[in-house]
Amino acid sequence: MPRPADVIHLSRTEIPTRWYNLAADLPTPPPLHPGTRQPATAQDMSAIFPDNIIEQEMSTERWIDIPEEVLDAYAIWRPTPLFRARRLEAALGTTARIYYKYEGVSPAGSHKTNTAVPQAYYNKQAGVKRMTTETGAGQWGAALSFACQRYGLGCTVYMVRVSYEGKPYRRTMMNMWGGEVFASPTDRTKAGRHIRERMPDTLGSLGIAISEAVEDAVSSEDTKYGLGSVLNHVMLHQSVIGQETQKQLESIGEKADVLVGCVGGGSNFAGLTFPFLADKISGKDKDLRVVAVEPSACPTITRGRYEYDFGDTEGLTPLLKMHTLGHDFVPPGIHSGGLRYHGMGPLVSSAVEAGLVEGISVHQLQVFDACKLFLTAEGILPAPESGHAILGAIEEAKRMTAEGRKGAIVFNLSGHGFLDLAAYQSYVGGELVNYDFDTGAPIPS
Ligand SMILES: *Cc1c(COP(=O)(O)O)cnc(C)c1O
Repeated sequence: MPRPADVIHLSRTEIPTRWYNLAADLPTPPPLHPGTRQPATAQDMSAIFPDNIIEQEMSTERWIDIPEEVLDAYAIWRPTPLFRARRLEAALGTTARIYYKYEGVSPAGSHKTNTAVPQAYYNKQAGVKRMTTETGAGQWGAALSFACQRYGLGCTVYMVRVSYEGKPYRRTMMNMWGGEVFASPTDRTKAGRHIRERMPDTLGSLGIAISEAVEDAVSSEDTKYGLGSVLNHVMLHQSVIGQETQKQLESIGEKADVLVGCVGGGSNFAGLTFPFLADKISGKDKDLRVVAVEPSACPTITRGRYEYDFGDTEGLTPLLKMHTLGHDFVPPGIHSGGLRYHGMGPLVSSAVEAGLVEGISVHQLQVFDACKLFLTAEGILPAPESGHAILGAIEEAKRMTAEGRKGAIVFNLSGHGFLDLAAYQSYVGGELVNYDFDTGAPIPS
């Protein structure tokens, strides 16, 4: 008998040629102008984003064509492989079939290039000369630096200080792709100076870095800002992940029972799950369960309030209706920098409110245990962020096994962890701690 395949590949010609827009199927409250509290107009957003991006951000078209130039860049690393995690299944002794979609094969090592490339492309089309952005762990800054270099744009990255210091090699990647990188909060912006006065020892946060990047863009010529998560157009671009996964599962006659993804602002999760949610919404696939896994130290979905809040700390962005811990919330310095964000993307939040998505939260030590098990079984070192999805999938598999059920669990392995070795060194050295959300203090183990 032939050995069943562990890797399900698609050919180049099967890269999706359209993005799927969940906003067509799931009405979501619009962003508001912070002054008037009326729906933000394209005009309101034009200081920050070029018109072609704003058009996508506000679109309720179900399908949007992917430009040829973007498809050409996608072909550097797409379609990405879908793996059957047979060795992980064996290690768990589970009745579940576990699959993972691996986005770590991209140039920057995560799913973030899926939106970095179209964002840089549209900015170039609109005549922009430089993009500014924030980055947590450095994945987004690296992805945007890669994309900006491709289209001849300058790229300025405000990197959350705790990561700037703890993940120096991501900064090197950004510099190699021509990006300039500053530890945020900086003294280059009013927002940064304001925060340093109030909190001189701050580790920084994504919210603070966004304020700095937005201020830089708004106050400079031919400069716009790019966001790596949260907003509708980012979720849209990421939909290539789920569309490919659907084809890959179909090609082996498989059907997903549970989808799992980690959530910071929600984009890799949205990328995997939104194309499947269309079928859940239409009733074609009512029983599909969709699970979002977040850090217990920054539990936006499970502990946040669903209300209008700013996307950044200083209140420079439009108000977004989302699950939020408050725009001035600064999470503890957990090693999943990409998940240290106070809010959840409006479309993901709206899917949670509609009962389409379940949220769970997990502690970082358990996440690193799951990463170690995954590495041992499957041979890939995951990004700590992705480890949240691994742990979520393992929990689901254990539950299926305990209940004597069979089924397919598919999770998104959003990135590799080769540039997160300092975090793994802390884990190996027994230095990692869990944090209590209510007190912000380390939990004694
Ligand atoms: C940025 C990042 C995340 C979190 O961001 P989302 O928008 O929630 O996907 C997760 N995994 C990796 C590898 C990342 O780089």
